[in-house]
Amino acid sequence: MLSDGDSVAVNRALGEAGWIGMSWPVELGGRGLSRLTATLVEEVFGYHWLPLSSYLLSYKTIGAAIERFGSPALVERLLPGIARGELVFCQGFSEPGAGSDLGSLTTRAELRGDTYVVYGHKIWTSSAQLADWIYLAVRTDPDTKHRGISVIVCPVDTQGIEVRTFPTLGGGYLCETFLDGVEIPVANLVGEVNGGWDILMHTLDFERVTAEKLGGFAWVLDAVDARLRETDRLDRVASERIARLRGELHASRLLSFRAADMLDSGLPGSATSAMAKLSGARLAQAIGDAAVDLLGLEGLGDASPEAAIQGRAAALYRASVGSTIAGGTAEVQQLVIARRGLGLR
Ligand SMILES: Cc1cc2nc3c(=O)[nH]c(=O)nc-3n(C[C@H](O)[C@H](O)[C@H](O)COP(=O)(O)OP(=O)(O)OC[C@H]3O[C@@H](n4cnc5c(N)ncnc54)[C@H](O)[C@@H]3O)c2cc1C
Repeated sequence: MLSDGDSVAVNRALGEAGWIGMSWPVELGGRGLSRLTATLVEEVFGYHWLPLSSYLLSYKTIGAAIERFGSPALVERLLPGIARGELVFCQGFSEPGAGSDLGSLTTRAELRGDTYVVYGHKIWTSSAQLADWIYLAVRTDPDTKHRGISVIVCPVDTQGIEVRTFPTLGGGYLCETFLDGVEIPVANLVGEVNGGWDILMHTLDFERVTAEKLGGFAWVLDAVDARLRETDRLDRVASERIARLRGELHASRLLSFRAADMLDSGLPGSATSAMAKLSGARLAQAIGDAAVDLLGLEGLGDASPEAAIQGRAAALYRASVGSTIAGGTAEVQQLVIARRGLGLR
C-alpha cells in the first residue's frame, strides 16, 4: 500500500496527467468542469486508496479558496503550479489554544512597510513536512476577535519557519509549525486584511466535502464482503451489517455531491458541507469498526499486499479516530448544522 509520504509523488503524477484543477478555467491549468465532477473523480481516486493528502490540501481545499478569494496576481501565480501537481500546500489554522474556537487564534502578523512579520505556533499542521507553501490564519487586529483575522500564504522554507513532525495513531505524521519573525509580502494576503474569517469558513466548506474518503470506505466494504464469502463466513448477521453500512454510505455520498453542487452554485453551503463531513466521519468509525470486527484476527494485520484486505481494515480503524476531529470536530459540525442550517441560536 502507498504511504502518505507518497502523496507528493502521486500528486505530481495526477498533475502531469491533467487530473488536478478540473473545476478551474483552462487558462489556469484546469479543465473548466464543475466541482461536482471533480468530487465524483475524487471518489474514484479514494476507492483505489491513492494517498491524496497533497492533492486534497492543495487543490480541493486551499486552491479552491485561493481561486475564490485571492487577487488575480496570486491566482495566476499559484494555481497553475497546483494544477501541474508541482506546488503542495499545507494549512496552518489550529493552534494549541485555538482549535474549535478558531477565532481565538493568537499567531500575529505585524505590518512593517509592505511586509507582514509573523510570530506564532501552529499545531496539527498536516503535511507541513512535505509542503512547499503554507496557508496561514493570522491575527492582524488584536482588538477584535473574528474581524481581526487575515489569511496569508508563503513558502514553507521562508526564514523563521520551523516544522516538527510527530507520529499519529493513524500511521502517518502531523506537524507543529513555529513562526518566528517570518517576513511575508503584503501581496501574499488572500482576500482583504481582517477579512479572513469568512475565507476560513469557506475553506472549511471545501475541505468538508469528503467523497474521496467515502470511496475508500466503499472499497473496504466490498473487500470485507468478498473475503467473508471466500472463507465461507458471510452469515446473515454479517450480510445485514454490511448492507446497512452500504445504505448509509450511499446517503453520505449524496450529501457530498449535494454539498459540491452548492459550492459550484455559490449557494451558502456550510450546513450541507458540515452534514457531509459529519456523516462521513461517523461512517469512517462505523466501517472501520465493522471491518475489524467481521474479519476477526486477520482484520488486525498490518498494511501489506499479503494481509487480508491488504491490512486496510486496521488502517481505517486507526485513522478513523481522528476523523471526528480533523476539519472541525463532530460537535462543531453539529453547531454549524444547528446555527447555519436550522437557524437555531
Ligand atoms: C488527523 C488530523 C489532521 C488535522 N489537520 C489539520 C491541519 O492540517 N491544519 C490545521 O490547522 N488543523 C488540523 N487539525 C486540527 C483540528 O482542526 C483540530 O484538532 C480540531 O479543530 C479540534 O480542535 P482542538 O484539537 O483544539 O480541540 P478542542 O477545540 O480543544 O476541543 C476539545 C473537545 O471539546 C469539544 N468542544 C469544543 N468546543 C465546543 C463547543 N462549543 N460545543 C461543544 N463541544 C465543543 C470538541 O468537540 C472536542 O471534543 C487536524 C486534526 C487531526 C486530528
